[in-house]
Amino acid sequence: MSSSVQSGHGGSPSSCSARTVNESRYARQPVRSGTSAHLRNGSDLQVVSPVTLMRAMLVAVAGVLVFASPVFGQWPATCVDLNDIVERHLGNDQNVGIYQQVFGEGAEQGCRTDHVNDVRRAFAWAFDEIDAAGDLSLPDLAWPTDCVELNDIVEAHLGNEHYVGIYERVFGPAAEAGCRRDHRDDVRAVFAWALGADASPGRAPPLQGATTGVLRDVEYVIGLPDGWRQTARHQFQRSDPWAILQLRPTGPSDHTLKQRAESVRDGLEQELRERRPDYVLFELTSFQEVTRGPQHAYEVTYRIQESSRYCVVVVTERIVAATTWYGLDRVIRATNWMCEADVPLHGDSTRTLLDSLRVTGKPDDYYSQSLIADGVLIKAAAKVQTEALPAAAAVVRWMLGSARSDIPPCMAAAEASLAIIPKDDFVTVLPEFAWLSGRADFTGRTYDSFDLRGAGAVRGQPATATSEELLLGIGVSRDPHVTVHEFAHAIQNLCFTPADDRKWRGFYTRALQANFRPGSHQMHDVYEFFAVFSDGYFGVGHWPGDPSTGRELIRKDFPDVFEALLEIYGSPGHLEHP
Ligand SMILES: [Zn+2]
Repeated sequence: MSSSVQSGHGGSPSSCSARTVNESRYARQPVRSGTSAHLRNGSDLQVVSPVTLMRAMLVAVAGVLVFASPVFGQWPATCVDLNDIVERHLGNDQNVGIYQQVFGEGAEQGCRTDHVNDVRRAFAWAFDEIDAAGDLSLPDLAWPTDCVELNDIVEAHLGNEHYVGIYERVFGPAAEAGCRRDHRDDVRAVFAWALGADASPGRAPPLQGATTGVLRDVEYVIGLPDGWRQTARHQFQRSDPWAILQLRPTGPSDHTLKQRAESVRDGLEQELRERRPDYVLFELTSFQEVTRGPQHAYEVTYRIQESSRYCVVVVTERIVAATTWYGLDRVIRATNWMCEADVPLHGDSTRTLLDSLRVTGKPDDYYSQSLIADGVLIKAAAKVQTEALPAAAAVVRWMLGSARSDIPPCMAAAEASLAIIPKDDFVTVLPEFAWLSGRADFTGRTYDSFDLRGAGAVRGQPATATSEELLLGIGVSRDPHVTVHEFAHAIQNLCFTPADDRKWRGFYTRALQANFRPGSHQMHDVYEFFAVFSDGYFGVGHWPGDPSTGRELIRKDFPDVFEALLEIYGSPGHLEHP
C-alpha cells in the first residue's frame, strides 16, 4: 500500500499572534490593602500607562490564555480595506478607493464616520447586538451581514478560491454557526473601533441566564451572574471587579479524574514559572473533591503574584469530568482569576459561576475513543484498535514536545485534533472529510480509495487525518510518515504567525526561482514545501529514516530552512513508541 501523503485541501496560513483583548478596560493598580480600586483611562495611574500595565497584567495573569483567533491576519483590518473589498465585490469599481481620494490622510476616519453603524449592523452577531440587525433606521449599504458571506468575499479577494464556500461544504446547514464560532473574535478584534463606548463591559448589556459552548467534544453550560460576559471562545470576564474565567481541556486521559486533578495541581507552579520566571508568590491553598450532583469535579485554589506591581490573584480551578461520554476522557479545567482584595465582597459571584458549570460529553455518532496529547484531541471510531490512539499521541508529542512555545497552546486553542481512519475504510468515512467523497486531489488520486491515508487540517476544519494501519503496522510497515506530514500541514495552517508565513513564502519563492525539484510533490505549493521539509526534519518519508540524518542534510544544503525548522520544532529526539 502506498503511504502517499496528501493534504485534503492546501489551506492558507494563519496567525496565532497574541490578540489584544480589551487591554485598557481592566487596568488595575497595584492592590492597596483593603481596597479594590480601579483605574479607568489611566486617570490615577502612577507608574505605567494602563495599556502597558494591563498588557503586562493580562499576559502575566492570563498567561497563555489570550490566543489569537487563527485567521486574524487575513481579514480586512481597517474600514477602508473592508469598504474597498465590498465595493469591488459588488461591482462598484468606481467606489473603490473613494475614501482615499476624497479624504486623503483622513480616509480611515471618514470611512469610520460613515460606516460605524453599517459595521455594527453587519456584525451584530459578533457584537451581541442581534437586535441592531433588524433596526431599519440604519442605512442599508448592501454589506454582507452574515459570517459565511463575508468570509467568502474576503477569501475570494485574497485569491483563496478553494476556500470560498468552505464553511458550506464542511458544515452544511451549520455553516453559519461554524463560521461565527471561528470568526466572532476576529471580527470583534478587527472592528473594535465600531464597538465604541457602548462596548465597554460596564455598559454592555450583560448576557442573561446561561451561555453554552462546545470545547472540543465537550459541551458546557454556564450560568452567567450579573456583570459577567463572554469575551472570547471559552473565556468570560467581569470588569468590575476584574475577573476572568477560562475553560481549557486537560489530559492525560489514562488517569482517573482524581489523578488528573492532582496532576493539574502538581503542575501549577511549573505553569506559572514558564510564563513568568520571576514570579513573586505561589501558594497552594486547598485541594478537594467538590462533586455536585452528577458533576464530578475537584477544586484547587491557590494564590499567585506575578510581580510586586500587580495584585495578589486568587485562583480557583475546577477540574470537571464530562458525565455522559466514553470513560473519563473528557475533562476540562475551569479557571477563575480574581484580585485577592475583591474576594471578600465578590467571591460569591465566582462561586455561583463555578457551581453553575455543567459539562457533558457531546454525543457523537462516529468517534467513540479519544485522548488528549499536548492539547491535541486524538479520536477514533470504536472499530479502530485502541492502541492506535497512544501511537498517534506519540507522534503529536514528538512534533510538539519541543516546539516553539506559542505553538502547542495555539494548536489547543484552535481545537486541533487528529482523527484515525480505520484500516478498512477510506478517509471519507471520517465526518470531517466526508465532503471529499467523489473528488480527487491535485495528483489525481480519489479520496474514496486507499491511495490517500491522511489529510491535513485547515482553519475552520482543524481535524487532521491519519490511518490505523500505518500507526500500528497492520499489513504494512509501521510508519509515522503520514502522521508527521499531515500534522505539519496542521501546524502551518492553524498556527503559523504572519512572520512564519512570510519567511516560508520567501523560501518557496527562491526555491521556485532556483528550479528546485521541479514538478515534485514538495514544490506543488508552499504548504507541501513546508510539510515535506518537515518530513525531512523528522527523518520520515523519502528522507533518510533517522531524524539526525535528515536534519543534517537540511542543515548542510538549506541552512536557512534548517534554522526556520529549528525555530518551529526545536530539537526533538527519536519517536518514542508507546
Ligand atoms: Zn501534503
